[in-house]
Amino acid sequence: MARIALVTGGQRGIGAAISESLQAAGRKVVATYAGNDAAAKAFTERTGIPCYKFDVADFAQCEAAVRRIEAEVGPIEILVNNAGITRDATMRKLTREMWDVVIDTNLGSCFNMCKLVWEGMIARKFGRIVNIGSINGQAGQYGQVNYAAAKSGIHGFTKALALEGARFNVTVNTVAPGYVDTEMVRAVPEDVLQKIIARIPVGRLGRAEDVARGVVFLTADEADFITGATLSINGGQHMY
Ligand code: NDP
Repeated sequence: MARIALVTGGQRGIGAAISESLQAAGRKVVATYAGNDAAAKAFTERTGIPCYKFDVADFAQCEAAVRRIEAEVGPIEILVNNAGITRDATMRKLTREMWDVVIDTNLGSCFNMCKLVWEGMIARKFGRIVNIGSINGQAGQYGQVNYAAAKSGIHGFTKALALEGARFNVTVNTVAPGYVDTEMVRAVPEDVLQKIIARIPVGRLGRAEDVARGVVFLTADEADFITGATLSINGGQHMY
């Protein structure tokens, strides 16, 4: 039986590549999204992957959705916490609302989704969780105090949860992409983007497929000795 994989924010951008790559690897994939119905419809028509709409920042919505997905599709064995947003501003302009929504969507969502699939994974003695971090959580970024804090938090979250899952064959890892050519990055001003590309040793932006390849690797049944790790996929931009 194909293992069931859920990818949050899985119908466009990096998430779409992750969903499709997991499907190509033989997984039964479910994608989720926040509100872009057109992208979800087009994605399902193209791939056959069903999309479920709910806000990953809202625990009650996550709970209802996970219940529904598990009833309609089956138990979630692979979880990819990919949904994320930015609300960039320097500290002088950053508002409490911009802080809260970025923390809740990028980091709170990892708690919400992991909490809801955790007991099942432990009971079945199999689980693969990948949380999508960011180079900007590892290195910091001007104008991204909220986003860097959320993504950096994912690294600590992953390591702590990995300790709890280790004895039960439930692995928890982080994939930390560098700058990937998606709508999120296309929103960066062109002059800033050119400066960013100049600092990437391989000389190009990442592709969503570059990130997806790492997720497929970490979610394989055979990857059971890799847990609490961070896989940086950034063209050599940040090494540590
Ligand atoms: P996109 O903006 O292209 O897509 C974001 C996805 O997340 C969409 O599917 C969106 O749904 C979903 N989403 C956003 N908010 C919510 C929410 N509250 N509830 C449910 N779903 C939500 O992002 P990317 O593909 O660029 O990024 C994917 C991940 O990779 C993010 O976590 C991002 O932080 C991270 N990342 C991206 C990098 C990049 O260069 N692009 C670099 C490093 C990390 P909808 O379509 O309905 O809005």
